[in-house]
Amino acid sequence: MNIHEYQAKELLTRFGIGIPAGYPALTVEEAVEAAKKLPGPLYVVKAQIHAGGRGKGKFQELGPDAKGGVRLADSIEAVESHSREMLGNTLVTIQTGDAGKQVNRLYITDGVDIEKEYYLSMLVDRKTGRIAMVVSTEGGMDIEEVAHSTPEKITTIAIDPAEGFQPHHGRAVAFALKLTGDLNKQAQKLAKQLYEAFSALDCAMIEINPLVETKDGNLLVLDTKMSFDSNALYRHKDVEAMRDETEEDPMEVEASKHDLAYIKLDGNIGCMVNGAGLAMATMDIIKLNGAFPANFLDVGGGANKEKVTAAFKIILSDPAVKGILVNIFGGIMKCDIIAEGIVAAAKEVNLSVPLVVRLEGTNVQKGKDILANSGLPIVPAEDLGDAAKKIVAEVKQAA
Ligand code: GDP
Ligand code: MG
Repeated sequence: MNIHEYQAKELLTRFGIGIPAGYPALTVEEAVEAAKKLPGPLYVVKAQIHAGGRGKGKFQELGPDAKGGVRLADSIEAVESHSREMLGNTLVTIQTGDAGKQVNRLYITDGVDIEKEYYLSMLVDRKTGRIAMVVSTEGGMDIEEVAHSTPEKITTIAIDPAEGFQPHHGRAVAFALKLTGDLNKQAQKLAKQLYEAFSALDCAMIEINPLVETKDGNLLVLDTKMSFDSNALYRHKDVEAMRDETEEDPMEVEASKHDLAYIKLDGNIGCMVNGAGLAMATMDIIKLNGAFPANFLDVGGGANKEKVTAAFKIILSDPAVKGILVNIFGGIMKCDIIAEGIVAAAKEVNLSVPLVVRLEGTNVQKGKDILANSGLPIVPAEDLGDAAKKIVAEVKQAA
């Protein structure tokens, strides 16, 4: 789960991390009130969307010459006019895709005089089973570009979670940032605080870009992104409450309500599968037959009629879907029960696209009989290869 910049900064503040003062705002009036609480004379008006690259982003409605989603303002009046221009409009950045994201929240912060911008992030490195701190002197700009063209400018420091953060990790971070004197000490302290925040909040990632050195010699977090391990959210009700569903794919939000693992993809064959491995294999074999899956969907081991119906509804609400492939192994749940669920769900949602079903496992024959006698135009498949061939052919034929 992702949160907004202002929420991430509120969390990091609890760990003593240095952050410029700021307040969120939902309206122009709130933005002006926020600016009045800040010392001035420089303010920053920042669009709050779940995507980076806002500074270089463009507002769809405002034409190519308008400023982006992070704007400096040298007066309260300027805060007001920038807020008026940004709120309600659509910001397109390299991370939003062409559709962009509507700006419904702003963050008004105290403007900082920047000496230099750095990059510092922390994430779970599954390959090594460590927490990786990624550090670079090349902050502010696109870190992917730095990684691509000048990888030597990026240092990765691994922390064994069993050992925890040690002083030498902090020294390595400060050294990689090429900082000396008091700034070096500040970097060591920041790295430690960041690790504490990361583990206490069960983060998947904290990215600070840029981390800045101010003209008066302080290290401050100017921009941050945080994401969390969804499986640990139950331990952090306050973080869970920061979820902004308007930033998420509506179908994925609906799926999570039914405890379905759903990810929208670009193809036109909807998939309903139980088990993540089987779902991956199903997507692979669709591709092998020359078509593309419209989604990844794992209904889970204990899929019942309600879940199957919810899954059908979610798949069908995607207008790109031109056919559905159901591939289910009846293990915990027997094939006949699943078949009943499929038939009931297909009737309830008024199925309008071809449906190919492959069942395997306990009571498979009973299951197949239920499908065959349902009166619905369900195409049965013998095995996974057969199922993929059939659904691809059905969709081609319908096109
Ligand atoms: P992003 O474009 O979504 O990553 O948004 P950032 O918050 O990182 O802002 C983009 C850029 O705006 C930063 O890299 C800075 O150069 C600039 N910026 C943001 N806040 C300030 C500030 O307080 N003072 C100054 N001088 N520049 C700022
Ligand atoms: Mg940034």
